[in-house]
Amino acid sequence: MPTYEYECTKCGSSFELEQRITESPRERCPSCRGKVIRIISGGGGIILKGSGFYVTDYRSEQYKKDAKADRPEPAPKSETSKKVASG
Ligand SMILES: [Zn+2]
Repeated sequence: MPTYEYECTKCGSSFELEQRITESPRERCPSCRGKVIRIISGGGGIILKGSGFYVTDYRSEQYKKDAKADRPEPAPKSETSKKVASG
């Protein structure tokens, strides 16, 4: 199980968490409930840190909100029955 490093954007505290890859990333700081960012470490040794890194994370949340707000209402069923002229 890989270990992920998180850093809180609110109080600045960092913590490590063992998670499965399929597990969704932690979003809240355990001490102040602030927004945390996942620091990608280990393996390649590339550490993405700084402004801009957590934007994608934020956008996904915003996207969810937008998707909810933008949800199109179901169109009313239009009557398709035709009157048959008889006679
Ligand atoms: Zn915090």
